[in-house]
Amino acid sequence: MSYRIGVKTDVGRRREVNEDSFLVHEPLFVVADGMGGHVAGDIASSTAVDTIKEQSPSASAEDPNTLAALVLAANSRIWEKAEGDSTLRGMGTTCTLLLLDSSKAHFAHVGDSRAYLLRGGTLTQITEDHTLVGRMVKEGRLSADDAERHPQRSIVTRALGVDSEVEVDLIDMDVAEGDRILICSDGLSSMIDFDTIASILNQEPDPQVAAERLVDAANEAGGEDNITVVIVDIGAGDAQGAAESMESRRSSTVESPEGIDGSPAAPSSSELTYAGAVAAPPEPERREERPIITRDETHDEPPARKWPRKLVVALVIVVLLGAAAFFGVRYLLGNSWYVGVNEDGFVTVYEGIPEEVAGLSLNDEIEVSDLRATQLPDFLAENVADGIKKDSLEDAQSHVAILEEQVEADERQRDRSRQPDRNNTNNRD
Ligand code: CA
Repeated sequence: MSYRIGVKTDVGRRREVNEDSFLVHEPLFVVADGMGGHVAGDIASSTAVDTIKEQSPSASAEDPNTLAALVLAANSRIWEKAEGDSTLRGMGTTCTLLLLDSSKAHFAHVGDSRAYLLRGGTLTQITEDHTLVGRMVKEGRLSADDAERHPQRSIVTRALGVDSEVEVDLIDMDVAEGDRILICSDGLSSMIDFDTIASILNQEPDPQVAAERLVDAANEAGGEDNITVVIVDIGAGDAQGAAESMESRRSSTVESPEGIDGSPAAPSSSELTYAGAVAAPPEPERREERPIITRDETHDEPPARKWPRKLVVALVIVVLLGAAAFFGVRYLLGNSWYVGVNEDGFVTVYEGIPEEVAGLSLNDEIEVSDLRATQLPDFLAENVADGIKKDSLEDAQSHVAILEEQVEADERQRDRSRQPDRNNTNNRD
C-alpha cells in the first residue's frame, strides 16, 4: 500500500504558542493537541509524540493492544512529568494515532482531535469526541462541583497526562485505494464545519495542497486555536499521483511542527528513518470489502465483534441436551449483551446473543432506543445489524448513547452548515 501525505500545522490567529504536535512516521501518524499552562500544553503534546515514536517498534498492527500501549506509555510519561514539576501540573494532550498496514487503518484515540475518512466523495467522522463534561455529570461519573474545577472542564473529557490511567478508544477499519484519511486538531473542526472540510477534501486532489487549504480556511474563519492537519491518501489517485506518491513516501518523515511551519511546499525532510517494524506481514489483497469498524473502549481486550464459534456450538449442544440444561443456557445468555437492530429498525440493547437455535431465539429486547439504524453511516449500520457484543448492560447502553451522540453531532454539523448566519440560529425558546 502506498501513501501520499499532506501535513500542515499553524499557530492560528489568536494564540502565541502552537501547542499542537504531530508525527508522520510511516506507517504511523499522530496528531496531539496540548493543553495546560503557558508552555505546558506544548510539552504535553510533544512528549506524547516523542514517546510514541520512541516506542513504536514495539507496536504491531496485528495486535491493537500494542497501539493502546503506545498511547498509555505517552500518558504515563506526561503524567510523571506533571507530577514532578508543579508548573506543569494539570497539563494534558489529546492523541489521535493512525497505523496503516496492508489493508487496514488502526486508530487509537483519546480526546477531541478527530479522524475522518473520505471515501467515494463522502466524509465520515471515525473517532468519537471525548468532550462534554456535562455528559459525565449526567452519567454520575463526575459531580457538578468537580466538573467546574476539572482542569479540562472546557476542553475535553478524556486526555493524556491528566491522570495515571486513561481509557483509549481503539478502532479498526478496512481501507482501500482511493480512501483519504484526515487527522486534525479541534482548531480545524471547531472553526470550519463538516461540509466545508468535506468539500475542500473533495476538491483538492493533492494532499499537501488540501492540508494547506484546510488550515487557510480555519484561519479565515477566525483561527482562534492552533490548527494541525495530517492527510493520508491511500494508494495513488491518478498516474501522476502514483509517481509522486513514491517520492513523497520517501521524503516525508516529519516530526515537529517547526519543521514545516509556514512552508508552502510538501514536507522535505531528508530520510525515512522508520524501519517498518510496525508493519504487519503482507496480507492477500482484498477488494470491494465493506468497511469494518470496531470500537472498543477497554484497552486490555481485543476488539472482538464476533461471537466465539465454540460458544455457539456449546449453546447448540446445551439446548439439544434438553430441559435439564435450560437454566445453564439462561445463565450464559443472561451474561451476554449486545447492541442490535429490532424488527422495526430501531437500535436496541439485547440480552443474549444474536443467534437462533432450532427456531428458538437466544435473546431478549431490553431497551429500544429512538435511533433508527438508517440514521447511522452505512458502515456503522452494518455493524449494528450484525450485533455489537458488549460485556455489560451498561456498556451496551453507553454504546447506544455514543451512536446517538454521533448522529446528533453529524446532524448539528449539517444543520449549522445550512445556516449561513450563525448568529441567528440559537434563538429557540
Ligand atoms: Ca486545540
